[in-house]
Amino acid sequence: QGTIIIQVRVAPIGDEYILLLADDRTEITRTEAMRNDFVANVSHELKTPVGAISLLAEALEGAAGDEVAVRRFAQRMQKESSRLSAMVQDIIELSRLQGANVVQSGKPVDLNAVVAEAVDRNKLPAEAKDISIVVGGKLELPVYGDADLLTTALRNLIDNAIRYAPEHSTVGVGLRSREGLAVISVTDQGPGISAEEQERIFERFYRVDAARSRQTGGTGLGLSIVKHVIAEHAGEVSVWSQPGQGSTFTVRLPEMDQEPEENQAGDAPA
Ligand code: ADP
Repeated sequence: QGTIIIQVRVAPIGDEYILLLADDRTEITRTEAMRNDFVANVSHELKTPVGAISLLAEALEGAAGDEVAVRRFAQRMQKESSRLSAMVQDIIELSRLQGANVVQSGKPVDLNAVVAEAVDRNKLPAEAKDISIVVGGKLELPVYGDADLLTTALRNLIDNAIRYAPEHSTVGVGLRSREGLAVISVTDQGPGISAEEQERIFERFYRVDAARSRQTGGTGLGLSIVKHVIAEHAGEVSVWSQPGQGSTFTVRLPEMDQEPEENQAGDAPA
């Protein structure tokens, strides 16, 4: 519904004139559209747990005297409110990210330390499912960026691997430097993701199976946070998976071999 302003200019080339058309949608209009979209999604998503909590509170009231029912409703309320809290946390993270300027706040970051921290923060949920996280390999060079944001991204990937993997399985985290890129992969032995779903999972609030995701405590925002953070760092995140054969999420980030260059295109003034 936004207005698209097309800029039209006539420019002379030799004896002839050509017509130049430029899409002049400003950065602001685009950001605004994205934000409106985001607010609409957020409101919709927040209504679900809030509605559930309110219904459960009513049920709880009605169940007075029935100890078993009271306990059941209370437990479900707890579950819904922790989901709500996870969602609010993710939303805050995502909006913080939208205002973040990695180029300005950036510093050399040791991704080995970032991965160690991300693994550490997932220790408890891994232990709860008897999942071992095995880290292999090492990165030689730092990347340029924001250590906190990168930790969030990797923590989300490892968190997903643990949530979707079966009990007593292994989550692998591999680190390697290749052709100027830091490559980090997170592999799980979970249910896998079909090819069609792989195209959509990085979208905000997209969940392959809303019921399963709700059970596993998902918010549908984890992977879009990952994608944002990695894109802000001029990197890429991709997924390899086949249903029934687990999933591997791979992050590629440009390594710093010297001071970060201002002009990546290489056409610096002479
Ligand atoms: P959620 O909070 O629901 O996990 P994400 O954005 O992190 O949201 O992931 C989007 C969807 O992608 C999930 O709902 C799930 O269906 C799928 N997904 C993500 N990671 C995995 C994984 N490691 N194994 C299987 N499915 C996954």
